[in-house]
Amino acid sequence: MADVADLAAEFVEAHLDRSIRAAVTAPFDPGVPGECDNCLNDSPRLVKGICARCREPKKGYARG
Ligand SMILES: [Zn+2]
Repeated sequence: MADVADLAAEFVEAHLDRSIRAAVTAPFDPGVPGECDNCLNDSPRLVKGICARCREPKKGYARG
């Protein structure tokens, strides 16, 4: 008969493994330089075609 603690440990291990794999394979988009699809300004770092100011307008990036 399987020990409950063993099963729990196995479950936690499997879950942890999945979480780590998900974190490692999560696409971190470093961005690319180019023209923003939204405001059409040149940006040194577009993520999915959108510049930092358009992605996070609340941060109050300076104009230009
Ligand atoms: Zn923009």
